[in-house]
Amino acid sequence: MPSLPVLTDRAPLARGDVSAHEWNDWRWQLRNMLKSAADLERFVRLSRRERDGLAASAGMFRVGLTPYYASLMDRDQPSCPIRMQAIPSPRELEVTDAELRDPLGEDTHSPVPAVFHKYPDRCLLLAVDRCAIYCRHCNRRRLVGGDDPTTRAELDEGIDYIARTRRIRDVLISGGDPLLLSTRKLDSILGKLSAIDHVEIVRVGTRVPVVLPQRIDDELCRVLRAHQPFYVNTHFNHPKEITPEAREACERLVDHGVPVGNQAVLLRGVNSSVRCMRRLMRELLKMRVRPYYLFQGDTVVGTDHLRTPVAEAERILAGMRGWMSGMAIPHLVLDAPGGGGKIPIGPDYVVSRSPTEVTLENYRGHIVTYPEPRERDCTVPYDEIYFAGEPEDDDREGSAEAGL
Ligand SMILES: *Cc1c(COP(=O)(O)O)cnc(C)c1O
Ligand code: SF4
Repeated sequence: MPSLPVLTDRAPLARGDVSAHEWNDWRWQLRNMLKSAADLERFVRLSRRERDGLAASAGMFRVGLTPYYASLMDRDQPSCPIRMQAIPSPRELEVTDAELRDPLGEDTHSPVPAVFHKYPDRCLLLAVDRCAIYCRHCNRRRLVGGDDPTTRAELDEGIDYIARTRRIRDVLISGGDPLLLSTRKLDSILGKLSAIDHVEIVRVGTRVPVVLPQRIDDELCRVLRAHQPFYVNTHFNHPKEITPEAREACERLVDHGVPVGNQAVLLRGVNSSVRCMRRLMRELLKMRVRPYYLFQGDTVVGTDHLRTPVAEAERILAGMRGWMSGMAIPHLVLDAPGGGGKIPIGPDYVVSRSPTEVTLENYRGHIVTYPEPRERDCTVPYDEIYFAGEPEDDDREGSAEAGL
């Protein structure tokens, strides 16, 4: 790898033969991903544990990150949240009995190789198996960064499945990181999906705004906008990741008419404090990224050390709700081991219920009672007219029939 320029004051990089032009070129960033201790040493003073983790990672989940993301690392502190997300810990080797290769039971909800179809009206389309970082907490480590990429035939088969499965209204393009595909290829996939009548919205899940913001150029934004309604969900985990470059990438998407949401993962010792989460959510809103999910850690192999107790997750959310803008509050969810899907978890504000009143606790811990109304029937008479002739909008049967 060539030596890197001093483009920011974040990391004292070696002065050398990389121009600003190259640094700002997303393909250069990908070609020069850091993979080894020697690569990382250009940015940080590796600790012994990090060295051990890197040495041990050979047979586990691959290491890789962009020079851009590495430039955010704290050179001297191994507790740096950027380092902890990108550099393996030797504890990844300590696999517990509870940990699974496929914690969310996705492989058993896969009607064709490139599709996971778990919920009634929406599915995941795996478009690519590469990422611009291999996150140490990745719940799809069995699929990404390996040597079994989604083939063009599998992708077409996936799109065919979506086209013939009429209850799918929402397609979430995932992977891997779909924004690593060429703009032309994305345009073609999005074109095929938007040609399907019953597909109402398309979304993409991507860490590119966080780890490779250079990729979000005007051309890409125009293509994404052309396929509206199209949504981006990204994955910021720490306020330190919100740099001028990341901000520019998110604002560019939004300015082009592409709404951006955030799905953060709660990571023990990385972002597992009220203070850190509050700052993250506020900074996201400032760049018009709407917090969407906060995930309790999945039980994926080698990540036990990164998970928080559920009660801690609930405590952190309680430290946010009511104390800051409601716009800043994500849904705290636990994705059920085995494939049950996402389940919202606490804190629970309802203390007790009776037919006449509900007792609740507010965010400050004060008890309030809410008197129930006398009428209980909530039928909407106008539904009969507004939805005349349409079947009842209940897909519970539909998914059972396909065994999904
Ligand atoms: C998360 C997920 C979705 C999308 O879920 P939303 O709650 O609608 O964001 C769809 N399919 C699978 C398999 C998922 O894991
Ligand atoms: S970017 Fe997403 S898919 Fe890729 S390694 Fe990170 S969490 Fe996994």
